[in-house]
Amino acid sequence: MDSSNTRIAVIGAGVSGLLSAYYLIRSAGSLEVSVFEARGSPARPHCTGLVSVETAERLPLSREAELARFRLVTLLVPELKLSASFSYDRYAITRLDRVKFERMLLNDIMLRGVEVSYNDPVYEVRRLGGGWDVRSRSGSSHYDYLVLASGYNARLPGLLGLKRCVRVLSGVQVDVEVGNRSELIEDSITAVISSYLGGGFAWLVPLGGRGLTIGCASDNRSISSLECLRMMTSLASKLYGSIKPFSGVYGGAVLRGYPIEAIGEGVVGLGDAVAMVKSLSGGGLYGISIASRLIPELILRGKYRVQSHFTRLARDLRQQYYLSKSVPTLLKLARSVGLAGKRLYVHVGKHLSYDNHIRMFIESLTSRALVAPLTSRSTLEISI
Ligand SMILES: Cc1cc2nc3c(=O)[nH]c(=O)nc-3n(C[C@H](O)[C@H](O)[C@H](O)COP(=O)(O)OP(=O)(O)OC[C@H]3O[C@@H](n4cnc5c(N)ncnc54)[C@H](O)[C@@H]3O)c2cc1C
Repeated sequence: MDSSNTRIAVIGAGVSGLLSAYYLIRSAGSLEVSVFEARGSPARPHCTGLVSVETAERLPLSREAELARFRLVTLLVPELKLSASFSYDRYAITRLDRVKFERMLLNDIMLRGVEVSYNDPVYEVRRLGGGWDVRSRSGSSHYDYLVLASGYNARLPGLLGLKRCVRVLSGVQVDVEVGNRSELIEDSITAVISSYLGGGFAWLVPLGGRGLTIGCASDNRSISSLECLRMMTSLASKLYGSIKPFSGVYGGAVLRGYPIEAIGEGVVGLGDAVAMVKSLSGGGLYGISIASRLIPELILRGKYRVQSHFTRLARDLRQQYYLSKSVPTLLKLARSVGLAGKRLYVHVGKHLSYDNHIRMFIESLTSRALVAPLTSRSTLEISI
């Protein structure tokens, strides 16, 4: 595509849309980038902001938005009285202040001439003369290329022929101050998987000082996400003493799924719009951090230059999705091989990223150290 006068419409000013605009506006001065956003104001608090250190390194400006770093992840399965602690000998996970991060991206792209239009939902997109007619609240305009970064809602991806496999969970969180700070390990996060959480999962993540974020994602059918949050709050108060909320309840859609067709004729989908998520943890920033950097190359030089990267990412996310679907079976298996009541300590070597859930899982389960002492000891130590 000739880059002079190329007009690009980015639909959605969440992290996917902002990062796309960030890379696009740096790639060639003659691109014109416009971002449409349905909401009235920038950056809303909704996300925990946990990413691997490797993902954070791929995200521009993320260092200034860093809140905390972690080296220990403890997984609890209450019905099995099972806990597995994955410890890294380095900081492996970072917590970003998502609101600050998105505001920094927004300031950056606006300074570079990207037009960002709030309170301006896109209603309709139609293929017209090799480009797109985009109709939004503020009017109608013609663009050469579309970046769809409109979040999990299915309407626009469907209209544009983009395909994804997706299951939507309802995610809610609350920030609290804990009474007993000495119990709060600052570089440690806790995740809970349990059939009591309606096919979902929950998390406790330190915020610094006495602060703790309590969150959960559930499918709202067997149990509501608010009920899950109440259960997690009561678990947190058993662990850390009294609990005093200092935020309201906030959150949004937590997805499980993977992209099937993220690139179409004159359009690319990014982030939640095409279910670019790590299904076990609901993490969206991993896929977004990889795919957003490829967008200028895709638009300026064509699909064949980036297709293999998109395919590899989609395959990785699809595998993570199927692993998340097999969690109930794996828990049954854990019970039947006698893991109930055990405490596992898994030492994760330097080479494994927190993003690589599959290898962490498989290597710890297939470790000889795990299988051998199953019958006798209640504490197991494993190195991977
Ligand atoms: C409770 C919770 C905790 C999470 N924790 C983590 C975590 O720890 N780590 C992690 O990596 N991920 C986490 N996630 C997931 C992560 O937040 C999402 O994957 C990510 O925000 C998706 O970004 P996005 O830009 O694709 O979509 P969104 O953030 O949903 O942005 C889409 C934007 O498009 C706008 N829009 C929609 N339709 C239109 C339209 N027609 N016209 C114009 N604008 C439109 C919307 O208003 C919205 O602003 C969490 C999510 C939740 C809900």
